[in-house]
Amino acid sequence: MPSPESENKRMPEKIVCRVCGQSSTQQSIGRVINGSYPLLKCPECSTILADQCRVESKKIYDELYDQEGLQAYEQHRVEFEKIVNGGKPHRPYQERLLAKVEKICSGRRMIEIGGGVGIFGKIAVSRGWDYTNYDVSEVALSYAEKLGLKTRLIENQRISLPANSADLIVLWEVIEHIWEVSGYLKIIREALVPNGVLLMSTPNYFRAAYQRSDSWGVGAAPPVHVNFFTQESLGAALRLNGFSKNDVFVRRIYLPASKSLEGALRPLKFLLRLEEPPTLFSISRRS
Ligand SMILES: [Zn+2]
Repeated sequence: MPSPESENKRMPEKIVCRVCGQSSTQQSIGRVINGSYPLLKCPECSTILADQCRVESKKIYDELYDQEGLQAYEQHRVEFEKIVNGGKPHRPYQERLLAKVEKICSGRRMIEIGGGVGIFGKIAVSRGWDYTNYDVSEVALSYAEKLGLKTRLIENQRISLPANSADLIVLWEVIEHIWEVSGYLKIIREALVPNGVLLMSTPNYFRAAYQRSDSWGVGAAPPVHVNFFTQESLGAALRLNGFSKNDVFVRRIYLPASKSLEGALRPLKFLLRLEEPPTLFSISRRS
């Protein structure tokens, strides 16, 4: 009979999963990203998690985050100027998903987290939503205000939302950045009215760029992105955090991203299920 002490030595360490909030024995999946970031998997929610980022200085994270923020800002700037000059924001797939969730939302109060300069906010307002953009970037929010949008600054990356204040909460490409996902989802859940809707998108862990090698672009790798979801794991994480009717899906129809042969072939690969699309989308209800 092994002594209790030797048995303890063999037991993997149980910790509370920062994504699903369950007591979990997270195990290595044998991948180390960019030579520095080992990936773990939670057996409770199946989410792939970056390890060892927690000991990094906040400064490194902030620098990387700022770099990514700048790139994103550059991408949005042209679109922003077009709108200021009277043009229409062009986010057809996001608008289609909004039209879909409008059918199940009882009211028209929306919070977007990470709404940036307010492109999606402008679409929301044009569709009759009472919209507020919560973002960490003061610069982005000053532009959103120029578009006439209501804004709230997220300070020190800590969010606080008024309880029962939203019929819909939207996060486009945000959840993969958040360390304490479970705590964050709790705040979001409490901010929603009963049966309120959470609409999100996040990178798909099965996207080719993540599966091809362990060298990832800095903006999509730890410590910038720290959680990597599949359809299965995002559904489980939402369920374990008190959301129901979780519909997690990929988009199969894309327009060619470039005129190159590869750019033309990729949408066909998504359609024929030869390659996993890059993004997951989810629509959930507050239980
Ligand atoms: Zn978990």
